Amino acid sequence: MVTDQRRELQFPHCRERTRILPGCKLILLLLVGTTGLRAYCCGPETPTADGTIAFDPSEPIRPIRVVLGGMQRLRTIRVDGPYKILSGDDPGSILAEGERLDATEVAATQRKWLVAAPLPRPVERFLLKAQQDGSIWVGKRCYRGHVRFEFAGGDYLRVINEVDLEDYLASVVSCEMPGDFPPAAQQAQVIAARTYALFHMLTRNDSQPFDVYDSSRSQNYRGLQYIDAKGRRLAAETEASRKIVAATQRAVLVYQNRLFCSYYSATCGGRTADGRSVFGNAPPPLYGHESDCCVGAPNYRWTRRISIQQALQAINAGELQTQMLESLRELHINDPGEGRLAQLSFSDGQRKRTLSAAAIRGRLPLVSPAADLPSPFYNAQIDGDEIIFTGRGWGHGVGLCQWGSRSLALRGMTSAEILDYYFPGSTLVHLK
Ligand SMILES: [Zn+2]
Repeated sequence: MVTDQRRELQFPHCRERTRILPGCKLILLLLVGTTGLRAYCCGPETPTADGTIAFDPSEPIRPIRVVLGGMQRLRTIRVDGPYKILSGDDPGSILAEGERLDATEVAATQRKWLVAAPLPRPVERFLLKAQQDGSIWVGKRCYRGHVRFEFAGGDYLRVINEVDLEDYLASVVSCEMPGDFPPAAQQAQVIAARTYALFHMLTRNDSQPFDVYDSSRSQNYRGLQYIDAKGRRLAAETEASRKIVAATQRAVLVYQNRLFCSYYSATCGGRTADGRSVFGNAPPPLYGHESDCCVGAPNYRWTRRISIQQALQAINAGELQTQMLESLRELHINDPGEGRLAQLSFSDGQRKRTLSAAAIRGRLPLVSPAADLPSPFYNAQIDGDEIIFTGRGWGHGVGLCQWGSRSLALRGMTSAEILDYYFPGSTLVHLK
């Protein structure tokens, strides 16, 4: 029972869903480029070089698998009602059951087992089911559907929520976009989020037992309700968000009848980015275009000053000692424009290092959390013992611009028109 319908409207920390951290670009390329698991149909599908995948909207949709947080050694669970703990290997085998489960810890041991008070013996994996949907708590969040616990190597466990896709979206939309954005913008957000989710459900390979993360690495998702930092019990899914989702009539975006990864970010900063440059492959709806709809939005323009010392740590990360730059004397930017990523060249007068604007952006927070560039689209110049970064936008900038969607909706555009604007050449189809 959701007792408090207030929601935090701190606008998105979200926008980094495909932030280019070191190594992540490779992962993203793999995600888009791997042989797909046609999870709810017949046989695997392989995305083509342009990042689209064959797709039959008449097929039934299985629950989405959302990994909850990073890998941890210990998670606290609770069930506010009747529950069953089933074997992860044999769903017909009941390991434990009861009328309610008080807060208890699930821990991973170094010997490949999960241990928890209700379990009769250590197991490698188990499935927690509640009789009443939305009564399972993991830490400070409460979830619909089932929750799967797995040993994940080392002494870590992985927790995966298996939840109906439409229920998942009712939480995602309120975590990704403030509830006071116009309905058409929120509906466009839901359709982009549904397409994004389904694309990952179809392309995730067998080696990864989940489809999406619950953070901005994929899409923000806090389940049904959660306890915030002040101890308040808040709704992540609301009556309003459920209505927004229902109004979208299970629509997803396709390009030439093939599903694609419908990226979105908070603010494009005046031009949506070229998905081919940011993610390696992308179909025409993700090529990007000029767009001033988000003028005045947070981080439409931004400036950051970062010490050369910190920048050097980021530039030299992972390099052999003999290859590291000792100082920073020259900085050149090769910006191809057209929404494509720039390359930055750094020199100490002897050695030279070239990195993409996205790579620098990904490395800097690893040196200092405060050295956070809002987007990979920026200029940079040396100023004394600092580098001044001046940029535009918030997030990777590919696909739908959330603040721009708000503006377009306020001008009277429908969700379909907003999606056509940000994903030109795409069409909407409805899932069964
Ligand atoms: Zn924009």
